[in-house]
Amino acid sequence: MKITPLGVGGAFTKTNYHNNYIFQLGETLLLVDAGTTLRTSLAEAGYHYTDIDFVYISHLHFDHVGGLEEMILQRYWNFENGQHAPVKTKIIVHEKLLHSIRSILSHSLNNQGQAVEDFCQLITPKNEGSMFIGEYTFTVFDTTNAHQEGMISSGFKLSRKGKNLVYTSDIKRLEQANLLSQIDESTVAIFQDVSFTTNGAHATIEEVLSYYPSEIHEKIYAMHYNDNVGDFEEVIEQAKIQLAKRGKIIEFK
Ligand SMILES: [Zn+2]
Ligand SMILES: [Zn+2]
Repeated sequence: MKITPLGVGGAFTKTNYHNNYIFQLGETLLLVDAGTTLRTSLAEAGYHYTDIDFVYISHLHFDHVGGLEEMILQRYWNFENGQHAPVKTKIIVHEKLLHSIRSILSHSLNNQGQAVEDFCQLITPKNEGSMFIGEYTFTVFDTTNAHQEGMISSGFKLSRKGKNLVYTSDIKRLEQANLLSQIDESTVAIFQDVSFTTNGAHATIEEVLSYYPSEIHEKIYAMHYNDNVGDFEEVIEQAKIQLAKRGKIIEFK
């Protein structure tokens, strides 16, 4: 598994792009969230919109979904040898999000006799939230109300050959999200949003360190942080956590 952080910044970042990733799972490319900065960050990482096989959308904040419509339309208006060769976008969401994502896309895509389904395939894994992506099992888990009260959100777990990786997406209330129930001795990494200052929508570094048992701190990849991250180098080093960095590829065998 090869993970390319397209961006690692919080919603208001000016320097690190939105917290979006490409997970290379065998031959398959999974884009994790599609924020407003995707139009720049994807190209800077050397990818084209049509390279992506699946997009997972965790929730509907702009730093996770603001770039999705452009991606869908650019794939649809793909040309090969001068011929229109539309590429439908396969979007994975938790089933709770299905109605809302179809609704927001419908306002721009349902016209001229076309509808969302002409551009996209909306996929909601039904088998307890699981589906296969190549050799990997991809499982979405519900974190609704744990990022922001009243907001539908989800994270995911990727498993293969007895090892797994957990991706929280945006979380404030770690216990409510019951993230520890996703983690076991086979977990190799936890991609966790971390705020270094007080924050109403994201777990702070103190909250993250006190929630997870100390023996698994080294498996935490802090992400979705603010542009002031440079002021907290000592804190990060003492915490013995990893920091996801834009463009720095992370690989797991
Ligand atoms: Zn966010
Ligand atoms: Zn959010």
